Amino acid sequence: MKIVNYPHPALRAMCKPVTSIDKDVRLAAGAMLDLMYQREGLGLAAPQVTLDYRMIVMNFEGEAERKDMEVVAINPVILETKGTEKDREGCLSFPGLYQDIRRAKTVKVQYYDLDGRANEMVCSELAARIWQHEIDHLNGVLFIDKMGPLQRYGSRNDIQNLMVEFDDDKKRGLLPPDMEPKL
Ligand SMILES: [Zn+2]
Repeated sequence: MKIVNYPHPALRAMCKPVTSIDKDVRLAAGAMLDLMYQREGLGLAAPQVTLDYRMIVMNFEGEAERKDMEVVAINPVILETKGTEKDREGCLSFPGLYQDIRRAKTVKVQYYDLDGRANEMVCSELAARIWQHEIDHLNGVLFIDKMGPLQRYGSRNDIQNLMVEFDDDKKRGLLPPDMEPKL
């Protein structure tokens, strides 16, 4: 399992609901958490590792030791949002790119955990931002889509570099030669 970068087409897929929490799903959740901690991320969504189902992993502190801050969320949905807030955001599929993004300040979410239990959570600020960013991934929505024109302009070099890397990876056989980028 590895994290794919923009413009890998897996990042634009609409993910399917998880219908049974089997061994594969549990193993994938553990492997995604390991990858997220390795890369010092706060969240990771299934399409970022080319899985096409609705699962995200997060740790609101980003520290593997803080298991109390760790969440594996299956079929998550945002039930309510309140307020807005603009703050710095990055994404493991866009290494090195950080921009201010406007998000809801508070969210109420519902999700299933790995034991199949339904949970609800109300979060604000950074935790709310992570939930929104990761749930967007499950719908093929990326943080560059949420940028205003200034942030988008400020990101153009990073995005261009990622496109070049995508082509290089195809030439080097790391990606299928006929794979089309999805912008
Ligand atoms: Zn992301």
